[in-house]
Amino acid sequence: KEIKPLKSEYRIASDSLFAPFEFQNSAKKYVGIDVDLMKAIAKKQKFNVSLDFVGFQTAVDQTQAGHADGMIAGMSITDERKNVFDFSDPYFTANATVAVKSTTTDIKSYKDLKGKTVGVKNGTASQAFIDKNKDKYGYNVKVFDAADTMYESLNTGSIDAFMDDEPVVKYAILQGKKFATPIEPEKIGEYGFAVKKGTNPELLAMFNAGLAKLKANGDYDKIVEKYMGNTD
Ligand code: GLN
Repeated sequence: KEIKPLKSEYRIASDSLFAPFEFQNSAKKYVGIDVDLMKAIAKKQKFNVSLDFVGFQTAVDQTQAGHADGMIAGMSITDERKNVFDFSDPYFTANATVAVKSTTTDIKSYKDLKGKTVGVKNGTASQAFIDKNKDKYGYNVKVFDAADTMYESLNTGSIDAFMDDEPVVKYAILQGKKFATPIEPEKIGEYGFAVKKGTNPELLAMFNAGLAKLKANGDYDKIVEKYMGNTD
């Protein structure tokens, strides 16, 4: 039996820049895997969404505060987050990886980060990992609100490395960023759509039902292929 929407429109929060999952194209329109997936699922399940690209930590805060009905932001399903979020079925698998400038030769393992400065984006699984291992490896941490300033800081040398999701770093490299990933990536979980724990159960159910349909009819693969490895 079809699940019916209970709201005329669901407000969905997302990251401000997390290519190829959400980013502005040359026409300044937000596109990407998360954007297309959310819209395709809403269309398939006949509900309305408005997407707001507020940044990762702000999306978390707005969803927790009930200002957003849900979030899709390349968000990893972690045990810690399961305390405060209900997650959809996973829709993508991604590790996190350390990125350095491609000209950097002295960073080959976490130990080599001793005394260096590592950037992370606020609220991310990478931040949790980097904070947890700070004393063990003896690096400094610099927290950024968005990816553009973090990536630019690596370019200009104000940080020595940053940690971010592997598909996002790989995509940036494909786009021409002179970065390298010399350290083995970390498993941080699969991506899921999330609602505040105990809220909007019909939205979560519609997401899962729509995702299953898009996987079965090939549309999910088309969306991923459209953005992955595409350097336009
Ligand atoms: N997957 C990572 C996380 O959930 C990063 C998400 C993001 O930066 N948009 O923390």
